[in-house]
Amino acid sequence: MSAYPHTATAPAADTCTEPLPVLGRDVTVPLVTGGEVTYAPLDYAASAPALQRVWDDVAAYAPYYGSVHRGAGYLSQLSTDLFERSRSTVHAFLGCRPRDQVVFTRSTTDSLNLLAGALPDGCEVFVFETEHHAALLPWRGHRVTCLDAPGTPREAVESLERALAAREPYGPALVCVTGASNVTGELWPVRELAAAAHAHGARIVLDAAQLAPHRPVDVAALDVDWVALSGHKLYAPFGAGVLAGRADWLRAAEPYLAGGGASRSVVRRPDGGLEADWHDTAARHEAGSPNVIGAYALASACRTLTEAGFEALAARERELVARLRAGLAEVPQVRVLSLFGDDAPRVGVVSFVVDGWNSSHVAAALSAEYGIGVRDGLFCAHPLVRRLLGGAPEAPAECGAPDTAPGDGPLNAVRVSFGAGTPDEHVDRFLRAVKELVRDGARWTYRTEDGRCVPDRG
Ligand code: PLP
Repeated sequence: MSAYPHTATAPAADTCTEPLPVLGRDVTVPLVTGGEVTYAPLDYAASAPALQRVWDDVAAYAPYYGSVHRGAGYLSQLSTDLFERSRSTVHAFLGCRPRDQVVFTRSTTDSLNLLAGALPDGCEVFVFETEHHAALLPWRGHRVTCLDAPGTPREAVESLERALAAREPYGPALVCVTGASNVTGELWPVRELAAAAHAHGARIVLDAAQLAPHRPVDVAALDVDWVALSGHKLYAPFGAGVLAGRADWLRAAEPYLAGGGASRSVVRRPDGGLEADWHDTAARHEAGSPNVIGAYALASACRTLTEAGFEALAARERELVARLRAGLAEVPQVRVLSLFGDDAPRVGVVSFVVDGWNSSHVAAALSAEYGIGVRDGLFCAHPLVRRLLGGAPEAPAECGAPDTAPGDGPLNAVRVSFGAGTPDEHVDRFLRAVKELVRDGARWTYRTEDGRCVPDRG
């Protein structure tokens, strides 16, 4: 099926000393202090802007969009072909083993919940308290061991080894670990953790939500059993995610969703009941009409990042991270949150607190006065952020009040995160803004509305 001209119209950037073109790079936003400024999205860890190339690919395909799988028409066949080719692209992008399955899901959360439903009976799950809630919470109904935050990557491996050695050796077990922290940006020793898991008869799933946009993920080389990621963090915000890896547990499991597409045949039994024969391919867990555009967009992002070259992307990002951290280090009131220390390798995700400032106030002022989008809060990693903040309690502070509880550390942090589409100017503007806010204070007044800090417009 080749009539569809699915080559991208926009070229990828020639060299990664330049940011990759993303949508919204010229969007301007109003400032509360007057005037407009180009928006600086520094919340990539939540959702990254779409790559221009992804958008162009989707736009070029859109007129050819058709029903997937059983449709007899030309566009249905073309769309089915594109959907399955997207699966192959993702398979190659993730360095999967030949027999690994790639299941299209909605997101990392969805992928990990799918895997949780496929765990064999009696499977024990091991996680670190440092994980995102998407990796901490899906394992209900299984025995979960939550390990303390380690102080170094080596400690992480040793702690996992100890925990696995202490378990019943013959039952199934799963370790779930992130590749890069969504709070500190620090890289986790995935290969070593996989070796430890396998040495103790456990399997491992890599939460690559934060890793995949920044570094190559090679399932076979890392020797992880599964990997989960989200398209919207990978510059392809069209509602698709991926769970990729070993087929056996997925094939043995009940379908994630029961319905059309997951079943080969359904028959009515003589006793009036129903019997379904489920697929044993990825389709088993993809019931319902698939999100072709989401899958295609995700595959387009995989191609674009591969062509740009992760080495070059990572080199540029490392420079920006160093610049950002060096700039923040010049402000004595700023404390950057870290588990593994200053020298740990990390992606473009940095969380921090400012002495005497409510983090929500900092984030609101960055947006309203500088056009910079960051995030404040606990980043869906409550146990980790609370630990890094020194045991922060639940209640949010009033806007404008110092972000501390009596006798405790700050309640919330600010997170700044960026990636392949970030120009140097966004990082520079952010640093200038933090320095000005700390030195001169906010130029506007803010109030608390529904627990959030917002500019007071009178
Ligand atoms: N894992 C990590 C490390 C994350 O940072 C996130 C989202 O921020 C998730 C999982 C969940 O991703 P999603 O919301 O796309 O399901």
